[in-house]
Amino acid sequence: MTRLPETPVVIGAGPAGLCVAWNLAIDGVQVQVLEKTNEVGGLALTFQDGEYLFDLGPHNIHTVYRDIYTFLRKILGEDLCQHYPEIKIFFRDRFVSYPLKGIRVFTTLPLWTIIPAGLSFLWARFKMFIRNPQNDDSFESWIKNRFGNVLYNIYFGPYAEKAWKINASGISSYVAEKRVPILSLTDYIRRLFKNPPKHFHSEDWTSINNYYPRKGVGQITNYLAKGIIGNNGSIEKNVEILSIDGGDRRVESIRYIQEGKISTIQTDFLFNTMPLNDFIKILNLDVPEKVRKAASGLDYCSETLLYLKTSCSKTFDTPLTYFSSPKIKFNRVYDVRLFSHDCVPSGKSALCVEYTCNVGDEVWGASPDELFEYAMTVFETHGMLFRKDVDGYLVRRITHAYPRFRIGFEKKLETILDYLSTLENVVTLGRQGLFCYANVDDVLYMGFRATETLHTLRKKGIDYSSLFPRHMAF
Ligand SMILES: Cc1cc2nc3c(=O)[nH]c(=O)nc-3n(C[C@H](O)[C@H](O)[C@H](O)COP(=O)(O)OP(=O)(O)OC[C@H]3O[C@@H](n4cnc5c(N)ncnc54)[C@H](O)[C@@H]3O)c2cc1C
Repeated sequence: MTRLPETPVVIGAGPAGLCVAWNLAIDGVQVQVLEKTNEVGGLALTFQDGEYLFDLGPHNIHTVYRDIYTFLRKILGEDLCQHYPEIKIFFRDRFVSYPLKGIRVFTTLPLWTIIPAGLSFLWARFKMFIRNPQNDDSFESWIKNRFGNVLYNIYFGPYAEKAWKINASGISSYVAEKRVPILSLTDYIRRLFKNPPKHFHSEDWTSINNYYPRKGVGQITNYLAKGIIGNNGSIEKNVEILSIDGGDRRVESIRYIQEGKISTIQTDFLFNTMPLNDFIKILNLDVPEKVRKAASGLDYCSETLLYLKTSCSKTFDTPLTYFSSPKIKFNRVYDVRLFSHDCVPSGKSALCVEYTCNVGDEVWGASPDELFEYAMTVFETHGMLFRKDVDGYLVRRITHAYPRFRIGFEKKLETILDYLSTLENVVTLGRQGLFCYANVDDVLYMGFRATETLHTLRKKGIDYSSLFPRHMAF
């Protein structure tokens, strides 16, 4: 039985929302997308500044979904370029390749670091072999149990606190499981001799093919947006949603303000991709107090991005460089040219310096000049880049860059999704809408799955754990 909605509304014009709307639009359904900002693409947009094309942070495309790869190849053709996103870590004032491979393990780090780190690593592995650790729920305990105290203290702990802006003992182990490739001892030994590991982790970019659209990740979202408009759909920008209204277990209408004018639209199916906590706030149904309370306990990390246009054709050696020291305020730099030569003018380059922060903190409030001065002081001190080589700079800020996975977030999320799954005509999806660690390929996958579900939906409500099993944290 086919059950396509007649008046669907999608909240959010990031890749998740656009993918749902695109699927509906090409099926002949008149879909309406409501977007808060004046841009399309969400976190996966590419904006132009003069001759430069910039993403909001680096967007390396690596996917385990064969059908998403096929889809991207179909829509981008030769523009889906394979690339090699080598990573370096600026660690104790020197660049270290990541992951450490072969004999380089013994040459890039000093012996007085390697020996205690190696011994504590082996001791941790030995303890894990004997029995599973009792305390394994925080980022701190998870890493210490697998990598040992020394590596935690010198690298993982300080970096995590810098990136998540809270104490590592309060960060959920979910972050480590998702972010840190953990190999077996035999895989480490294989890697030592440059063989690929047998077990694959989705964040281990060295083990899979990596792609980048020739003109930025926005090529994907622009394609979807064009398809929506070309098939009688609409994307309303600068929309502030005031309330989502309805009756028993159903959403019926959405009230919003756009350019000073208040409108109400009717809907028979709502797809949400805006941040889950904000969504619950404007959901004007009979939402239980415990659900509202759970939603108010979820929060997101923000980012401030400083883009530097440089007059030299080569700035950094590798596309991605992580800065682990807590003394340096930014945590990652991506070299735009090393992602795609077509995103910068010939003979020039650009860097994007990422500062993780919280809305309202010192970094969030810093002016572009202050952020520039700060970054250049670090770069010049270490001979990485000089002011004379910078042609110009600009700053962008992201309020919801990463869901902040505090210990206990799973329970809150479960409470919210259990409630949402009782609504007949609502699906929440995407990185913000499911409060999950998802990449572009993941949210496209969700977009396809969410629309496929409409064709087979016979029961009331949505079972999230069967619809998006890979993205459920519980
Ligand atoms: C710094 C950084 C680096 C990244 N690197 C990679 C990478 O290397 N590879 C990769 O695949 N992915 C990467 N990602 C992740 C990728 O960008 C996201 O997975 C993807 O954009 C999520 O899509 P989404 O549609 O779920 O959410 P979003 O892209 O966040 O879209 C949500 C949309 O909802 C809108 N919205 C919010 N509130 C409202 C409201 N009240 N009303 C209406 N609209 C609203 C937002 O403006 C936005 O347009 C990175 C992200 C960041 C921040």
